[in-house]
Amino acid sequence: MYRVNEDYLKLPGSYLFSTIGKKSRAFKEAHPEADVISLGIGDVTQPLVPAIIKALHAAVDDMSRAETFHGYSPDLGYSWLRETIAKNDYEDRGCSISPDEIFISDGAKSDSGNIQEIFSRDSRIAVCDPVYPVYVDSNVMAGRCGTYDPKTERWSDVIYMPCVAENNFTPELPKEEPDIIYLCYPNNPTGASITKERLSEWVDYANRIGAVIIYDAAYEAYISAPDVPHSIYECEGARSCAIEIRSFSKNAGFTGTRLGFTVVPKDLERGGVKLHSLWARRHGTKFNGAPYIVQKAAMAVYSEEGKKELKEQVGYYKRNCRVIMDALKESGYEVYGGVDAPYIWMKTPDQMTSWEFFDRLLEKAHVVGTPGSGFGPSGEHYFRLTAFGTYENTKEAVRRIQRM
Ligand code: PLP
Repeated sequence: MYRVNEDYLKLPGSYLFSTIGKKSRAFKEAHPEADVISLGIGDVTQPLVPAIIKALHAAVDDMSRAETFHGYSPDLGYSWLRETIAKNDYEDRGCSISPDEIFISDGAKSDSGNIQEIFSRDSRIAVCDPVYPVYVDSNVMAGRCGTYDPKTERWSDVIYMPCVAENNFTPELPKEEPDIIYLCYPNNPTGASITKERLSEWVDYANRIGAVIIYDAAYEAYISAPDVPHSIYECEGARSCAIEIRSFSKNAGFTGTRLGFTVVPKDLERGGVKLHSLWARRHGTKFNGAPYIVQKAAMAVYSEEGKKELKEQVGYYKRNCRVIMDALKESGYEVYGGVDAPYIWMKTPDQMTSWEFFDRLLEKAHVVGTPGSGFGPSGEHYFRLTAFGTYENTKEAVRRIQRM
């Protein structure tokens, strides 16, 4: 008789986006005339840029001819893409990462959820609070988090590192020693970034205690501040303590096209075993390669034409950031993020809870956002708005919030 993985049963329901959906639907049913604008979920709205579309069309044509047809792609990605990433994302930024340390995947969600598999089951994880939920949930599924306390909304065996306005949304080094540290900068949901100096402290700490940092840099393309690193490998010593995860979702609009990559330097080694070999083994066993067509599309991201068009596209969302930030500040709200990341993290007014503010915004402004408490207890009394809407909707949404 089979038995289920009981660790899955420990997971509390994923209420955040389903509750948002339910509340929005109920409101629309009760007010069919209301034009509800969503600045809630982190999905892009702008189409793929022409350079990428051209590359996709050409790759589809390749697939139509026997001499240029491609079947299974290499498990770890085509060498031409890995070389291009190594040059553009790393060498050009002064980081030493070789193409064979780059593993192409179908996106950062899979990689950030799967990476925990190569670590021992008794590893202790540390996460920021609030946090992108995948890091914790994937470790719960693996039986690594102990028991959940619904009152504190915390797992017994997880080290939580609160990120609030008082610490600039960058965590203090934890008192208990973790084995695996998840960091995400620029951050979802707080929109905060981390300076090279602060990140270097984490790198030094991880090297000192023998921990590994899983660094999620999915929003790297939004960085504009000069002292904010685009990669953790800009920090000295990171090759021996950090794995970096990247995505094409938000820099190139691939949320529906799907592509990402993970960097595992060969310097990461424990007891003579390289994490690189374990991740290569895992990837080769459980992943059959990202589509040729999509990897070709990713090549266009690095072409001169693609770079120019994507700079404009990211600029479009960054303009939305400014529209939201300026309007909220003008109305007297306390706002954070929105400079190096496409997320605006605002303090709810009058000590309202995140959900109270959600209801008020929906009822009074017909705008949907995301309650900060859905990302962890330290997100209570905060609220997330995204810059991924259209410019017109964003303008209209903030006009309504200002009127409210
Ligand atoms: N990491 C973070 C922090 C995210 O916010 C997201 C998406 O919202 C992802 C990873 C997922 O990226 P992908 O679309 O590449 O799976």
